[in-house]
Amino acid sequence: MRKPFIAGNWKMYKLTKEAIQLVNGIKSGISDVNGVDVAVCPPYTSLSVISEAIKSSKIMLGAQNVHWETKGAFTGEVSPQMLLDIGCTLVIIGHSERRTYFGETDETINKKIKSVLLVGLNPIFCVGETLSEREKGITEEIIKRQITEGLKDIKLESMSKITIAYEPVWAIGTGKTATPKQANDVHIFIRGIIKQLYGNEIAQNVRIQYGGSVKSENIAELMKESDIDGALVGGASLEADTFIKLIKNSVTHGV
Ligand code: PEP
Repeated sequence: MRKPFIAGNWKMYKLTKEAIQLVNGIKSGISDVNGVDVAVCPPYTSLSVISEAIKSSKIMLGAQNVHWETKGAFTGEVSPQMLLDIGCTLVIIGHSERRTYFGETDETINKKIKSVLLVGLNPIFCVGETLSEREKGITEEIIKRQITEGLKDIKLESMSKITIAYEPVWAIGTGKTATPKQANDVHIFIRGIIKQLYGNEIAQNVRIQYGGSVKSENIAELMKESDIDGALVGGASLEADTFIKLIKNSVTHGV
């Protein structure tokens, strides 16, 4: 049985004061909610204050990016150890905005996943096709390549640390959500690839989040699907009330 997992990706939003307010709101709003893992992924500048604010709560802390090197002359970059040091347990890797605007490739994403696993961080590994790829009918080909290349040389023992996030690029921040069936079909496909690579037990245990305009109003329908185990949430994670409602609806009406 896979435990639902909801993570908020705050992207480049929230100054430190706003970030503390937001996380405090979420903390009190979900104190009585059980049966779901919850994480927030603020910008680097708020990681430290949020790390303090969530002590003694069940909210987990994630970063939105990382460099693969442990240290060195890499101006502007942050290492896995630095994230660990500040209290992160998670890190988003390969978000489509990083692939599109910052030139991330399957190869650099693979380096990042390997590097964070070495220090004990848990990657949320994002994959997803663009609108034109979906229209050309090559969604599965793209997803297969992203998964296979991203997980290249990752050992079976590490798979329990990895969450996969399926985020169709055309649904991120656009208000267009994939239908629950459209999303679930790709989740089933991803689980099939994991089965080929690592066997059935690992495939059945790996959590696959859906991401792309998830809101409190559509999470329950998505969670009813067989292979959707939670969500990576952008816009709807930026206000405490909407994120709390979404988290509650992910367990109240889910399977
Ligand atoms: C995201 O940032 O990963 C995302 C899915 O954004 P949104 O929920 O705003 O579409």
